[in-house]
Amino acid sequence: MLKTVVKTFLIALLISTCAFSASAWDDAGHKLSAYIAWQRMTAQAREQATRILLAAPEDADLSVFYSSDSRSAATKQRELFMIAATWADIVRDRKFKERYDKYHHGNWHYADTFWTTTGGKIEYLKSDEDGGKAVEKLYDFEKTLRDASESDQEKAIALAWILHLGGDIHQPLHTSARITEFEPKGDQGGNLFLLNPKETPRERSENLHWFWDSIVGRTIARQNDACDTDYLPPIANSMMKKYPSARTQNRLALGNFNEWQKESFAYNPTDVFSNDLIRFQTPSAKYKKNAFRLAEQQLALAGYRLGEMLNQILGGEATTNNAAKKN
Ligand SMILES: [Zn+2]
Repeated sequence: MLKTVVKTFLIALLISTCAFSASAWDDAGHKLSAYIAWQRMTAQAREQATRILLAAPEDADLSVFYSSDSRSAATKQRELFMIAATWADIVRDRKFKERYDKYHHGNWHYADTFWTTTGGKIEYLKSDEDGGKAVEKLYDFEKTLRDASESDQEKAIALAWILHLGGDIHQPLHTSARITEFEPKGDQGGNLFLLNPKETPRERSENLHWFWDSIVGRTIARQNDACDTDYLPPIANSMMKKYPSARTQNRLALGNFNEWQKESFAYNPTDVFSNDLIRFQTPSAKYKKNAFRLAEQQLALAGYRLGEMLNQILGGEATTNNAAKKN
């Protein structure tokens, strides 16, 4: 009990001092998609999502992210929802062993298509390697969230995973295992594709997966350790302006997670492994620019899809512009 109280206090302290922020698709990216989803959600869907997240099992350390400070309930609810999208990464922390053993699942974060190119053409391959379960788990968790007989405790975990995996599979490298002579078993979503000269020490070496995961934070740096509440909304608003939801309405493919994966994978041969990308070299300015453009588009699309999906499941009414304009 005491341990829980101390841990809860520490987490609350981390939020209030805003030291909790970090920049990566893992963190900023997931929070951006969740922020965009929240903008699309009806008042009823927001209310239900909050109620469910607050019912999370105590040992998951999820509901503790609802801050007790004096900001408005609307702000604190949105913050909880955004942090919930990163919870699947929070539970990676091995220092909290019981939580790690119970909730962490490394291979749920991706759904890889194994592929190679032969004579400039894509060839899809079968593999005995673990390709990940992101798509399968999205189907499972959607079912849990829709099931009236499931407890809110179960639904809280399901919702946190949906928010996270819905973001993950829009990162093209979370859908790809490229096979080459250097990576005969697949490149683990670009983790084995290095971007520094060969002699670079391992701990300083950067890889392609990291490059894409962290592109938002590296492209738009935080000023003076800005809190997420100051740093993220302008970025999300700019993404929504560049990629308006109205333009995505006919391609949301709600409930079709296979389609989300397929669409995200399709950017690998064209944009991720474009001809100008060279192993052991820093990607060019042109490559970076295009990667950021695509990341913005994918994060916005993930947010729109998640928002509409939650409206369908929790909202009970069509999205209104009023709901989208609040906050
Ligand atoms: Zn992930």
